[in-house]
Amino acid sequence: MTDTDSTQKWSIAIHGGAGSMKPETMDAATAANHEAALAAALDAGVALLAAGGSALDAVTAAVAALEDDPHFNAGRGAVFTYHGTNELDAAIMEGTHRKAGAVSGVTHTKNPVKLARTVMEAGPHVFLSGLGAEEFARDHGVEQVDPDWFATPERWRQLEELKARKLGWFDADLKYGTVGAVAVDGEGHVAAATSTGGLTGKRWGRIGDSPVIGAGTYADDRACAISCTGSGEHFLRVVTAHEIAARVRLGGETAQAAADAVIAELAAMGGDGGVIFAAPDGTTGFAFSTPGMYRARADSTGLCETAVFGPVDSTSR
Ligand code: ASP
Repeated sequence: MTDTDSTQKWSIAIHGGAGSMKPETMDAATAANHEAALAAALDAGVALLAAGGSALDAVTAAVAALEDDPHFNAGRGAVFTYHGTNELDAAIMEGTHRKAGAVSGVTHTKNPVKLARTVMEAGPHVFLSGLGAEEFARDHGVEQVDPDWFATPERWRQLEELKARKLGWFDADLKYGTVGAVAVDGEGHVAAATSTGGLTGKRWGRIGDSPVIGAGTYADDRACAISCTGSGEHFLRVVTAHEIAARVRLGGETAQAAADAVIAELAAMGGDGGVIFAAPDGTTGFAFSTPGMYRARADSTGLCETAVFGPVDSTSR
């Protein structure tokens, strides 16, 4: 599956989180607002890929756009921790050399995905956390903001609701809002990126699957690129993104079949959420166990779609 030829085409898929979204419970205007935000982020990636840019640049641009949009739980609009702060996690990986960068618990970096990429390209390590990650960010000129940049009234309301109702951290009504992107470029190289504020009310330095290479994010030109969203503890235990890639590489499954099987396995353990994938042959797709997932995809054949509600779409080719 690693061979590419002159007919190689690009494609990209993005997500803005999986959750309890249904037409009965979400009004059309809210769904349309989310779809418009997804379309704008998709366009940022498409513009690069259509101009011959790399999958790595495309996923960086798409995720940065989603981080800047307050509709999603990443960057601006991230959920609050139990103590009322925003602590951000992100990861990025490219499938050619399997280089990766990740950060967790950052509080001042405007676009955590750009910091993850800087870690990948400019640092000796793969995964940085907290104050050290931010020191690295400042040393490398990654844009810093006042933490107020990330805060939105709706996320504050969700924290208050969680505390008042003593809701569990995985209460489906609060939805997951992590963002991610996967892409394959004209050279047949894949890349994946994921960014999140984690779970509302998280504490004790909790880290979910999103920034953990192999769990929430993975890319391998021999298989596919994957970005996840959902109940992070389950995604960590299943090592979800790598598990999907391993099934493709070693088991010969299609990425869609592998994604469906691993999401079913995760659901059987009590977890829920979804994944997006892009394979080197240009195939993109989604698999999710929740009623809905904010998602969009486009490719060089003219496919361009956004969606919020289930059922799961079929693959693009
Ligand atoms: N998977 C993320 C986490 O556990 C949450 C999400 O997808 O919204 O941090």
